[in-house]
Amino acid sequence: MASGSNAETVEITDRDADWHRFFKTRYKKELDELSREYPYKRSLYINYRDIESFGKTGTELADELLENPGKVIGDIRDSIRTHRLVKTRKKEEQPDINIRFINLPRKIAIREIRSDHIGKFISVEGILRKTTEVRPRITLAVFRCPAGHRTVKAQSYGPFVEPDGCQTDGCTQKKLELIPRFSRFVDSQKLRIQESPEGLRGGEQPQTIDLDVTDDICGIVAPGDRIVVNGILRSMQRNSYGTKSTIFDIYVECNSIEVAEKEFEEVNISEEDEREIISLSQDPNIYRKIAHSIAPTIYGVDDVKDAISLQLFGGIAKEMPDGSRLRGDIHVLLIGDPGIAKSQMLRYVVRLSPRAIYTSGQSTTSAGLTATAVKDEFGDGRWTLEAGALVLADMGVACVDEMDKMDKHDRSALHEAMEQQSISIAKAGITATLKSRCALLGAANPKYGRFDDFVPIGDQINMPPSLLSRFDLIFVLTDKPEHERDLAIAEHILKAHSVGELIAQHARDPIPGVDDEYISEQLKPVTPEIDPVMFRKYVAYAKRNCFPRLEDEAREALIAYYMKLRDLADANKPVPVTARQLEAIVRLAEASARIRLSSVIVKSDAERVITIIDTCLRQVAYD
Ligand code: ADP
Ligand code: MG
Repeated sequence: MASGSNAETVEITDRDADWHRFFKTRYKKELDELSREYPYKRSLYINYRDIESFGKTGTELADELLENPGKVIGDIRDSIRTHRLVKTRKKEEQPDINIRFINLPRKIAIREIRSDHIGKFISVEGILRKTTEVRPRITLAVFRCPAGHRTVKAQSYGPFVEPDGCQTDGCTQKKLELIPRFSRFVDSQKLRIQESPEGLRGGEQPQTIDLDVTDDICGIVAPGDRIVVNGILRSMQRNSYGTKSTIFDIYVECNSIEVAEKEFEEVNISEEDEREIISLSQDPNIYRKIAHSIAPTIYGVDDVKDAISLQLFGGIAKEMPDGSRLRGDIHVLLIGDPGIAKSQMLRYVVRLSPRAIYTSGQSTTSAGLTATAVKDEFGDGRWTLEAGALVLADMGVACVDEMDKMDKHDRSALHEAMEQQSISIAKAGITATLKSRCALLGAANPKYGRFDDFVPIGDQINMPPSLLSRFDLIFVLTDKPEHERDLAIAEHILKAHSVGELIAQHARDPIPGVDDEYISEQLKPVTPEIDPVMFRKYVAYAKRNCFPRLEDEAREALIAYYMKLRDLADANKPVPVTARQLEAIVRLAEASARIRLSSVIVKSDAERVITIIDTCLRQVAYD
């Protein structure tokens, strides 16, 4: 265990009797298990709530753990040793047990970690972004001088510390040699977590913190996992070019890792919310309401908004009898001329999805869209696996702008990521399969920047058919001058601007006749009918509770439509019609029923989906 660098100025209380009593009444089973299985099992997990609820001293002990964790862990180990609570088979051996704590009541956000927390026991939640290989780290270094004396020096996380010279009295040797054989090592791994997307509002950049993990909890998590980390916040002095700085870096000396898996748990839905959601779902205009709540400042593109509505609600993932898995997530691609609000749309979707991230294909992080394994300074020479956007968006929506500009590595990895929803990495010491169960909303420009009227659309899409066929819907958006539409867009944009101006002016200097009612009337065309907070709850509620099944009439309509597409299919089309399309049709129909919170997919769902797919296919075919 790394030792703390912070002076602990808390009154020292002898806790031996308290802990002994605690272990005598609780954790008997766990301690016996350790006795039997040591050294294969060498961690004792203690539930924080058990300490807290332990009689009169419970809260005191619990508080002491949070304030002065180093002492508490030491007390517990002493108590276990003194009273021989773990009896190993070899009588003389003193078992070296890790004391780990789980289930802490308060979690602190990464961006709220401050110097006050240094040396304290904290609990942080995040999504795992980077993991290194598991490699031994020296904890106790034994040196030998040329005269044969031994010098022992404890090591902690960070730089290796060498003694000034031989520590034996009277010996003046300076040159010491490390003897690994007598030194002590522990398995170690470095991790980096970042704030999860649902904790961020309005496109903030997520913040990160590094973790030092040792012994039996190394190698148990993979990038993309959502974890709760409990541990002690440590600081380490910055060192640039041999000069010590007054600035310190922080990291968490990890005590335990809990893996959180539940989807949308973060979204709290009250009973009142539930009533509102159910009443919305019964509104005959719900489809229009939902579409109009997506980026209301963007005029037109109603078909795209309809598609995004379906994407947000999603289809249902299915486990097949043969063990394979069929994705429920709907992938949508927008290819179009510059300046038609593609990027705007993507950014808005991030606000509407309970769990979404925005990134550009030309991403600045090395991990790009999928994942990479690199050897860099993060891992101090170890290989590091870093999760890209699709892994970080697991169980959510990945909004990828400028997809045409992604690099070759991503392009090939994307095939697996989109269809199997996993990413396999095998490089050097790292083999891993990361999960990427997300819906992809991509935006791309045509090959030559703008669509050219005289070249077939298919030749202007800079993506291989194998990749295109993985999208459930592809929209081709051209920006041809069209008098009426242009006028409407211009009016719509200026409306938003002038209302904005009006509000700002009114705030500076109240305008007579302008009140809240007047402003909300003016804002109507650019205000979402369902506000983003409610929207997220609606989506989360539907995904949690609604799993519609196909009704016969709808099934027949969908099959007939698919057969028609196959008959018309032409292998030279940029987007061939394959069996994937049938799966896409079903997914879209499921999403359509989900918007109504309906348990059956009916004919009108089939018709809605057919209309949308037809629009997409027509855009690719003619124009
Ligand atoms: P793209 O990513 O397609 O190149 P952007 O999303 O950057 O385009 O949009 C450019 C600007 O034009 C944005 O400020 C957007 O609000 C505006 N804009 C484009 N089309 C529309 C539209 N139909 N309605 C409202 N604003 C629009
Ligand atoms: Mg753009």
